[in-house]
Amino acid sequence: MGFFDGFRVTARQMVKPRVTRSYPDEKRPKPPRYHGRHVLNRYEDGMEKCIGCELCAGVCPAGCIYVRGADNPPDAPVSPGERWGFVYEINYLRCIHCDLCVEACPTEAITESKMFEFSFTNRADAIYTRAELLVGDDGRPQHLPWEDWRPGDDLRTSAWMRATSPSGSAAYEGQQEWSGELGYGERPAESGQSGPDNDEATGNVSVRKVMASHLLTRKDRR
Ligand code: SF4
Ligand code: SF4
Repeated sequence: MGFFDGFRVTARQMVKPRVTRSYPDEKRPKPPRYHGRHVLNRYEDGMEKCIGCELCAGVCPAGCIYVRGADNPPDAPVSPGERWGFVYEINYLRCIHCDLCVEACPTEAITESKMFEFSFTNRADAIYTRAELLVGDDGRPQHLPWEDWRPGDDLRTSAWMRATSPSGSAAYEGQQEWSGELGYGERPAESGQSGPDNDEATGNVSVRKVMASHLLTRKDRR
């Protein structure tokens, strides 16, 4: 009897909706605060946000960031501060995408996109330089030839940071504490703990909705 019980389980599963996808041809939508490949952001006027302070390098638990700061040339400053990060490297053979560098950065210069599909054939290629990390003239991450970008992966790379800063405490809900970005301007703060589930202005999506696209329903798990 147990033999036929086994077939019954198989037959029951055959008529249920398929929950797997043919990755990498088809990808699931990523959560809005996903930690992917980093970017170095710029202000609305095009100036770089990085001031070469090395706080991100100091806090990185994997020791994978290398930064060198230099005095801004008075006649053609690269950043609004006294200094700018003229060398900036991240070694992706070490990075664990913990985002501590993002939290430590005082100018919101370093954030993460939602793209994690990139690979290398040698160690040197795994070290991203400032020239590759810096956002383009439209404020979006550069799409490098060995990376697999899909629609949405390069949008709102700073969403995660904006969520923890202005809305982490209920007392600061709705307060905008995020400087303008090239290509995006000043984005509103997320709605916070008591706001609506789906905030079109910020790209925030309710956790329940995101998880629904990743997890099986209780019924499917039976
Ligand atoms: S995400 Fe974490 S491991 Fe990666 S560079 Fe930033 S601090 Fe280092
Ligand atoms: S990315 Fe931020 S923390 Fe790192 S050196 Fe630049 S300004 Fe400092």
